[in-house]
Amino acid sequence: MIIDCHGHYTTAPKELETYRQKQIADLKEPGKAASKGTLSITDDQIRESIEKAQLKLQRERGTDVTIFSPRAAGMAHHIGDATTSLHWSQHCNELIHRVCSLFPQNFVGVCQLPQTPGVPPGNCIDELVRCVKDFGFIGCNLNPDPSGGYWKDPPLTDKWWYPIYEKLVELDVPAMIHVSASCNPNFHTTGGHYINGDTTAFMQLITADLFKDFPTLKFIIPHGGGAVPYHWGRYRGIAQDLKKPLLKDHLLNNVFFDTCVYHQPGIDVLFKVIPIDNIMFASEMVGAVRGIDPETGNYYDDTKRYVDALPLSTADKQKVFEGNARRVYSRLKNKFPASR
Ligand SMILES: [Zn+2]
Repeated sequence: MIIDCHGHYTTAPKELETYRQKQIADLKEPGKAASKGTLSITDDQIRESIEKAQLKLQRERGTDVTIFSPRAAGMAHHIGDATTSLHWSQHCNELIHRVCSLFPQNFVGVCQLPQTPGVPPGNCIDELVRCVKDFGFIGCNLNPDPSGGYWKDPPLTDKWWYPIYEKLVELDVPAMIHVSASCNPNFHTTGGHYINGDTTAFMQLITADLFKDFPTLKFIIPHGGGAVPYHWGRYRGIAQDLKKPLLKDHLLNNVFFDTCVYHQPGIDVLFKVIPIDNIMFASEMVGAVRGIDPETGNYYDDTKRYVDALPLSTADKQKVFEGNARRVYSRLKNKFPASR
């Protein structure tokens, strides 16, 4: 079984975006902004949006299940206030739940959290619990910078975040550390802000001792860990100067990386540097890079080809494609009890 641990509903019917635009317009009218409003999308529309895109690519590329969440850039936690974010997150998560219900063999849900800059993340607990307990979701996306490129909230290691971590541990679900759209013109969303976010989160974790407080908390750093594998020597050296334990002891019982790296040399570095137990297969399709690489003739985000090209043992391949995901997303077994 091949599990892609990182996919977003980037192909949602246009009604979702229409809802969002109306929600944003209503922010100027205080009475209207307090309402969740309705979203009318039929099952047929959902089927069509998935069958022509993510499901088709799963079949073409030979993957089985995608751990699926709302469009990351669409989370845009900086828009409106906590109520805006709650209503938007609820609609987005409900839509993911419908996708997973229509295609239970192919998708399992991960939720967007209703974060808001300046609002304590404990505010997101109710929606997290609803998604895990009522919808059977197996994780969440946690935005380390709800301000969208201005980094206004405390670092991930601050006690500011502890209430949400306590709930993640209690529910035994991991968080993918995933920023959203950049509203800072210095940072291109998927090319700059995403990779900055991944790298910044890892560096924050080095400087503190978060996993002493939460030994079973699990984070996935996407996009191959940003700059982390390439600069592993720098991070090891900084940790050493800070008198921290070796990174493998300090962070690698709790931090995992995906394979959303869109060329062979990048994947080669990832696998050379990061232990096999900490790498999970992912493609983030349909997502940030949708084109075909003229050098290979293949889609940049067809990451399975890069992993297949590595000289991995059968046991290591099993870890990357399935076993590690089952360990990190412990609730996967509720949906898929045995390998198929
Ligand atoms: Zn993503």
